[in-house]
Amino acid sequence: MIDYATYEARLHQLRDEMMARIDAIENDVHHREQPVEKDFAEQATQSENDDVLNALDDEAKMVVQQIDHALLRIKDSSYGVCEKCGEPISEKRLEAIPYTSLCIKCAD
Ligand SMILES: [Zn+2]
Repeated sequence: MIDYATYEARLHQLRDEMMARIDAIENDVHHREQPVEKDFAEQATQSENDDVLNALDDEAKMVVQQIDHALLRIKDSSYGVCEKCGEPISEKRLEAIPYTSLCIKCAD
């Protein structure tokens, strides 16, 4: 039997970390939008960096969505069950990725 409280606490903690990461990334992007770089090479580097930051931002936001979904699944007691095949997700996998909604077979 899965200890929901443990995973719920872990999910909330992870969510806080992700939100802090999103804040940090968005502050970083906004800071760099202000000074206009004259040098084209520098500008190119800057927009490449922004692409990387935006990708990280998107990834963090996706994780937050998955965490919210997992928290809902804890509420309706479907947490820890694969959404695709209905089999239990191994605790080992939940410990590694507490917001996953798929078992290892379906995630492949
Ligand atoms: Zn499955």
